[in-house]
Amino acid sequence: MLESAPPSRILLSGRAKPILRPTASRRRSTLQRTLKNPIHCTGIGLHSGAKVSMTLAPAEADTGVVFVRTDVLAQGGAPERAEIAANWRHVADTRMCTVLANEQGTRLSTVEHLMAALAGCEVDNLRIEIDGPEIPVMDGSAAPFVFLIECAGTMEQSATRRAIEVLKPVSFGDDRRHATLEPADGFSLAFEIDFESQAIRRQECTVAFDPHSFRAEIARARTFGFIHEIEALRAAGLAKGGSLDNAVVVSGDRVLNDDGLRYADEFVRHKLLDAVGDLALAGAPLIGHYTGARCGHHHNNKLLHQLFADDSAWRWTTLEPAASAGAWNRVAVAANA
Ligand SMILES: [Zn+2]
Repeated sequence: MLESAPPSRILLSGRAKPILRPTASRRRSTLQRTLKNPIHCTGIGLHSGAKVSMTLAPAEADTGVVFVRTDVLAQGGAPERAEIAANWRHVADTRMCTVLANEQGTRLSTVEHLMAALAGCEVDNLRIEIDGPEIPVMDGSAAPFVFLIECAGTMEQSATRRAIEVLKPVSFGDDRRHATLEPADGFSLAFEIDFESQAIRRQECTVAFDPHSFRAEIARARTFGFIHEIEALRAAGLAKGGSLDNAVVVSGDRVLNDDGLRYADEFVRHKLLDAVGDLALAGAPLIGHYTGARCGHHHNNKLLHQLFADDSAWRWTTLEPAASAGAWNRVAVAANA
């Protein structure tokens, strides 16, 4: 998977609203994928500041993504370790980041950037072993996880990948702050944010999602925060691991990071990254168009609750690659399971 990809185009339309489209006729995988080899990393948790070790290990088809807290015994005791499936039903907290918890209450924080990397690299099945309560923040983006996945390599498995097709619009929120999903041919996302700070102001971005557009246009966008918020979090014992090494920090109208931004609109692109990660908790790739306006993890999770609460709003489908684009074509439909 260490293919050298051509740069993708950014097409401007309307009021300088970037539409990020796939350029290459990259076939999306129609078979499930896992890693070829296990791979290991260490890092610190954004909130705990504690060092954690993490191993991404191959898993059998139809496993999905499963987190294993190697520092916590499962109910029933040794040698079993606590497992938490990466699923929207297990989201326990969305205030600062997306937190998962299993039925025994074992929690794991800040899963969204890693989940986004897995979706972007089309990894369906993975066992993620971690010896602490928080996924390492790395540089605040998904790019280090993409690099790990590329180093380990991915491989197709014999099972067909299924996707979740959105059949009718669902929405959560109000006029100003909302998340919506509506039917579409492929998976695309749009986001808009609006801050008083002149460093951010109003930003809109739309992306036609595929592995290439994700890596080139979304994966490197870092999380961000305002200095006064970070000071308040620190006073509350949070964001202990946060620094200019793993976040864009804004003070008033200025970006404090010496190297500036990775994209002129890095802020809204990070919101797209978060949405990709949160929506990956659906458990399978989505076919639909997502729109987010001034919202975050809470709205994204509630949106999945809305979608799955209505059996007529979605269905399982199998896929084959479109002849000439990165998008998928629907080819067959199975009843909702
Ligand atoms: Zn984020």
